Amino acid sequence: MSLLERPPLTGADALRAAIPLLRGAGIEDAARDARVLLADAMGLGADRLTLHLQDDLLPLAEARFQSHIAARARRQPVAQILGERLFWGLTFVVTPDVLDPRPETEVLVEAALSQPFGKVLDLGTGSGAILLSCLTFMPEATGHGIDLSPAALAVAKRNAERLGLRARAKFAVGNWFEKLTGHYDLIVSNPPYITADEMPDLEPEVRLHEPLMALSPGGDGLDAYRAIAAGAGRHLLPGGRLLLEIGSTQGAAVMDLLRAQGFSVLDLLQDMDGRDRVVRALAPG
Ligand code: GLN
Repeated sequence: MSLLERPPLTGADALRAAIPLLRGAGIEDAARDARVLLADAMGLGADRLTLHLQDDLLPLAEARFQSHIAARARRQPVAQILGERLFWGLTFVVTPDVLDPRPETEVLVEAALSQPFGKVLDLGTGSGAILLSCLTFMPEATGHGIDLSPAALAVAKRNAERLGLRARAKFAVGNWFEKLTGHYDLIVSNPPYITADEMPDLEPEVRLHEPLMALSPGGDGLDAYRAIAAGAGRHLLPGGRLLLEIGSTQGAAVMDLLRAQGFSVLDLLQDMDGRDRVVRALAPG
């Protein structure tokens, strides 16, 4: 071997170098993230990485891994680096233009699917994760996804395409109910709800890399609920359901807003950590 040549780097070597780098960037689960990113760089399923850790890294895999680790050290979320994320058992494209679908939001999908529906509206659809999960498991249903962000809707449309749902899911740019004329038997939303005061305390992954407009309406965090509570009654069929994700301390305030608009509030559902997460209500009248 010439002096200029470097001995080949194995996957295990690359991991050993990367983990302290991620730890130094303040990432708690540095080892897990490094493994997931290495598996992706090597083109392997994460479950097969261990088998291949002693393999020499191909130059392309090494370059991809270095770039993944640099992005992660800047606190970019793993889902954005990989470009996709599993939600409700389905794989969704994720980019910096959309909120990374979170496991606690699956509570909302579970509630939506607990009763049949024909026509569903998702306000602030983002990646489309909620709407498209609902449609996948309610095969006769159709739905609309509304978002203020054309870039987010481009991601939602890609996801609809990948899931074979283009015929049943329609998307439109809009501000809540502004351009809507239809009636639905289910309205769902995970709107921006973080208060202005809470924003500085968010993890860098969220604060620096996810779209602000999907996270916070500013102020007391309730403006989206005010808009939804004011308009949902006119767009729900008799007996129609409204399901809203909330921040864990917002249950009482959101239920009050809904009652003030004539909704019957059914209950408050908890996520897997026991925090209040979803308000369920029925259309007025
Ligand atoms: N649930 C998200 C978070 O806690 C916030 C998304 C939202 O405001 N809907 O980061």
